[in-house]
Order: sequence, then structure tokens, then C-alpha cells
Amino acid sequence: MPGFELFGDLERKEVNDVLDNGVIMRYGFDGMRKGHWKAKELERELQDTFQSKHVQLVSSGTAAVSVALASAGVGAGDEVIMPTFTFVASFEAIMILGAIPVLVDIDDTLGLNPEAIAKAVTPKTKAIMVVQMCGSMANMEAIQNVANTHNLLVVEDACQAIGGTYKGKPLGSIGDLGCFSFDFVKTITCGEGGAVVTNSKDYYVNADHYSDHGHDHIGNDRGAETHPFLGYNFRISELHAAVGLAQVKRLPEFLAIQKKNFNIIREALSEIPEVTFRTVPEGGEESCAFLNFFLPDSETATKVSKAFTEGGIDACWNYYNNNWHYIRRWEHLKELKSLFPISKEVKEGLKYLETKTFEISDHYIARNISCLIKLSWTEKEVIARAEKMADIIKRVLNK
Ligand SMILES: *Cc1c(COP(=O)(O)O)cnc(C)c1O
Repeated sequence: MPGFELFGDLERKEVNDVLDNGVIMRYGFDGMRKGHWKAKELERELQDTFQSKHVQLVSSGTAAVSVALASAGVGAGDEVIMPTFTFVASFEAIMILGAIPVLVDIDDTLGLNPEAIAKAVTPKTKAIMVVQMCGSMANMEAIQNVANTHNLLVVEDACQAIGGTYKGKPLGSIGDLGCFSFDFVKTITCGEGGAVVTNSKDYYVNADHYSDHGHDHIGNDRGAETHPFLGYNFRISELHAAVGLAQVKRLPEFLAIQKKNFNIIREALSEIPEVTFRTVPEGGEESCAFLNFFLPDSETATKVSKAFTEGGIDACWNYYNNNWHYIRRWEHLKELKSLFPISKEVKEGLKYLETKTFEISDHYIARNISCLIKLSWTEKEVIARAEKMADIIKRVLNK
């Protein structure tokens, strides 16, 4: 991660195809577009990449999560269980539908804790939103069992785990619906974009219509299309899809580089006995977009994080003190600072956040350091970086 590091001729060629005919919208204008349907082509590619029968491209990963939930009928007053450690998009995508995010603890996978999910289920629970954070995954088998027991939908946010697999299946293809982001910093990028993947024809048709004002996309006259139900506009443009089309063809190359760089750093750190790594569930293969490790206590993690910054080791984070990815700093959510009135149901549904603490999540996140694995490093740079990281950690531990 991220794919933009390696932009090149392929991206330019795909974008120029679109600019040459001027049709930068994904639907309609059949006569003008000289056979270029970049969004459709990218959807076909992604069916193979994510081994899913159906793919609907949308305007962002946040839109993908919201469209996925809407397509499966999640809405006003429904509760959606989600992890405390994720990107803010997770609760945004739930709340835009009038549904209620129910935050629960993670475990040492850095994904949802199956026991915490089971405890949080109420008669209002509709779905479990699993977020595959930092290139790896939650314990999917245990989570599927909880979902089956309570008859809940599983929506899998794999925005940060493009290319990871679980028991041979691509992450994102395991739940009832999967969501991807192709924003500027993801493993493959469109600039802005996202995708909903599913094996359900019904969910797919819903996502296709809902993300384009409810248009039924039957025939080739947009003006004559009917609206079987209400929708909004979460469309991707042809220009964005063109960039993604070039990038997805390079995904195997990106993943190979990530893995190589990841292994060099992991090996160097694994020689330090105090360093432990996140648990990857049995049958899981990380995408290697990030390397996540734990230090013995939060104090050491804070010190190492600071020493990394001072020592020129960029792109490593201790998420405990991060505004974007952990419940601790989401005051705007806890205090419901909304520009517009929020429904009574959601207000009441979120009251628990005023007082609830998440000790188990704190236990993992406060000791964790998450390092981005870049694609543009040379082998020499990675080796030097790995040695420097190990030296810094040892120095902090020995003080
Ligand atoms: C990036 C990301 C999103 C949102 O994607 P955007 O395309 O930026 O809207 C959602 N969930 C996770 C876990 C992400 O990392």
C-alpha cells in the first residue's frame, strides 16, 4: 500500500482512452464512447480478483459500506455491530441510513472479538460489520458461527485488506456482502472509488439501482428507465474507473512487493523476544499492507512510536492516540455533534457511548504499533529500515 506509489504508463493509457472520446460518465452515451466502458470492465476484473459473482462499483469505500447495508435492507433503528478499531467510515456508513452502530471490543487479531459480538446481540441487531484492518482479518469462522446462531447478516469491510485471504478465499468475499475502497491511499486506487461484492443476485441488483437514483438500467435509454425503488447517487466516473482498471492489473505485482518488504521487516523484529505479532487466524494469509506488532506495555509502545518518528521511521502509528481509527478519540461521535437533527432512536441507541469503556480493545491497541508497508522502497532501503527499527526498539526496551 498505496498503489499510487507506482503510477505509470498503464494508468495514463487507460485515462487517455476515456479523455479521447469524452464520455466520462459510466452509464449511457453508447454511441459516443467508442466501445470504452471502463467501469464495466473494472467490475468484470474485480469479479475474478475477489472471486465474487457480482461487483458494483461506487464512488468511495464509505459509499460501498452504506450501499451494502442498504442493499440488504438495513435501515432506521436497526443495530449494526462494529469494532472499536476501524476507520470512522464504519459508523458514518451505518448512521447515514438511520441505523445504530453498536461498538464492541476487538481481540488480538485486531478484528472483532467473537465473544463480544455474541454479548452485544439484541432483538434489534440486523448485521455484523467485520472490518479486516491493516491487511489481516478477524476470526471469520467464529464470527460466522455467531451470525448463523442469531441469523445476522455479515458485511465485510475489506477496504484495508485487498489481496488478503482466509481459507483460500479473498477477504471481502466471505461475508454476505463485501466492501472495498480504492481511495488514494489504498493498495489499488482509482483516486476515489469503492466496490460492493456479493454472490447474491438480489443484493447486487439492489446495489446497482440504489447507487444510481434507483434507475433500473434496463435498455439503453436512460430517460426511459423506471425506478423500482428510491436511490441516491453513489456513482463512480469513467475517469476514476480507468485508473482502477490499470491498477487492478498490477495487483499481483503490488502484492508480491508488499510481501517481500513485509517479511524483511518482520524477520528483523522477530528477533526481539519482547515483540509479539498480531494473531492471524488459522487459514489466513495477510495482504502484507501493514506490519502490526505488540510491545509489552502501552508505555513502551508510546516511547517506541515517538522514537520511530524522531529516528526518521515514518508511516508507523500507535492507534491509541489516533483521531481516525480508534473509539478513544471519536468525541464527535460520543457527543453526537451533528449538523442536523438526529433521530430519537439513534440518539437513544448511542447513549451507551457516554459511559462505556473498552478495556479489552485498549489492552491491544495501546500496545500496538502498525507500520505501513510501502511499494516504492528499494530492497536496500527496506533492510536499512528494518535494522533501524529493531535498534530503536531494543534501545527503548533496554533503558
Ligand atoms: C479507507 C477505508 C474506508 C473508506 O473508504 P473511502 O474510499 O476513503 O471512503 C472504509 N473502511 C476502512 C477500513 C478503510 O480503511
